[in-house]
Amino acid sequence: MTLGTKDDAAARPATPALPSVRPPTAPAGFHVLAKPTGPICNLDCEYCFFLSKEALYPGDRFRMGDDLLDTYIRQLLESHTTPEVTIAWQGGEPTLMGVDHFRRAIELVEQYRRPGQTVEHTIQTNGTLLTDEWCELLAEHHFLVGISIDGPPALHDRYRVDKKGRPTYDRVVRGLDLLKQHRVDWNVLCTVNAANQHAPLDVYRFFRDDLGARHIQFIPIVERDNDTGFQEGDTVTDRSVDPEAWGRFMIAVFDEWVTGDVGTVFVPHFDAALASWLGMPPSLCIFGETCGNAVALEHNGDLYSCDHFVEPEHLLGNITRTHMVELLASPQQRAFGDAKRDTLPAYCRGCEVRFACNGECPKNRFTLTPDGEPGLNYLCAGYKNFFTHIDGLMRIMADLLRRNRYADEVVTVLAQAGRNDPCPCGSGRKAKQCHTVRTA
Ligand code: SF4
Ligand code: SF4
Repeated sequence: MTLGTKDDAAARPATPALPSVRPPTAPAGFHVLAKPTGPICNLDCEYCFFLSKEALYPGDRFRMGDDLLDTYIRQLLESHTTPEVTIAWQGGEPTLMGVDHFRRAIELVEQYRRPGQTVEHTIQTNGTLLTDEWCELLAEHHFLVGISIDGPPALHDRYRVDKKGRPTYDRVVRGLDLLKQHRVDWNVLCTVNAANQHAPLDVYRFFRDDLGARHIQFIPIVERDNDTGFQEGDTVTDRSVDPEAWGRFMIAVFDEWVTGDVGTVFVPHFDAALASWLGMPPSLCIFGETCGNAVALEHNGDLYSCDHFVEPEHLLGNITRTHMVELLASPQQRAFGDAKRDTLPAYCRGCEVRFACNGECPKNRFTLTPDGEPGLNYLCAGYKNFFTHIDGLMRIMADLLRRNRYADEVVTVLAQAGRNDPCPCGSGRKAKQCHTVRTA
């Protein structure tokens, strides 16, 4: 497929130009999750928060048109003053758009990219529709492909089913095998939910040892129990993760990781925590003091404050009428991001691990603090335990990095402790009963 001619371009509807004066509140770089098929998916995962978004656009075909794709890519590239830009596709299931949509996106990137501007392509998929043709494109353009999988078959298939309620594990792994055959970069995105929350090591070791994953992201399922699909109400479905179980899950994975996988397996929660212990901004928005630089683009050009807030109250505007950079810089979006800090309850402001947690994501802040103040994160108990547990070893890794050493030397620190000495993690337990380094 080739790009349109000049005449085609002239026939395109006019779309907003980059403002001649950049709004002072515009972020230099930001993240857009684009949903070319809106919420439409070939599967029917029971906990998916996005399937209910179909009700926002009744009667819609849910397909991003070529004109909008052109507008989107142009605005995204010209809005960034940073040299790196990420183009991130998500859904619903973005591969339902077909390969040609993505070929065209890549051509448009080449058309609009400024000299020196580098672009990373990412796509989050359930993997079930991948083919050789797909994988050739993904490999050629160095896509980073996120595969949604929740653990070994029995755990994955508990909620990740198709429209007929049938299991999907085999189809996901068939897609993953194709990615591997074509040497496409991939990572795992695993939700932690009521079905797998008590099996952290089964899940982690399965990804590491059976699938060979080197990047594993865990997402806690906190699904509000209401009919709107919006972030409303203060009860959760029984598919949601239990707060304490979430903490235990992350602690168990951390202890496994820190005794042998530092530097070879990457878990974003741990990277973000290490940044916080170093006094640097964390790489995950949920742990930042403020947010607001990660928006969601719907198939029709509607831009929302965040992927988790695709609801009318958080609609910023439409990029075919207002340039994306103005929507990012708008008072509405800046207020959305600042509210993460400004609505933090006193309980969080006085919390010892606030520097790492920052109240996590506002979407999960719907419980009361012990003294009755609203706005506490549903997952608080788990996060408090997790961040407290990792403190000692995070301090060691941060100290190593400050001395221009490597974080994975923490394994040597642990290995050198005498079996009956106190564990270097600071737990007060003997090393042999605490963090014992794995041997090959
Ligand atoms: S609302 Fe949550 S997920 Fe969205 S940008 Fe803010 S912290 Fe990130
Ligand atoms: S651990 Fe709990 S109290 Fe502490 S910052 Fe996080 S949500 Fe707030």
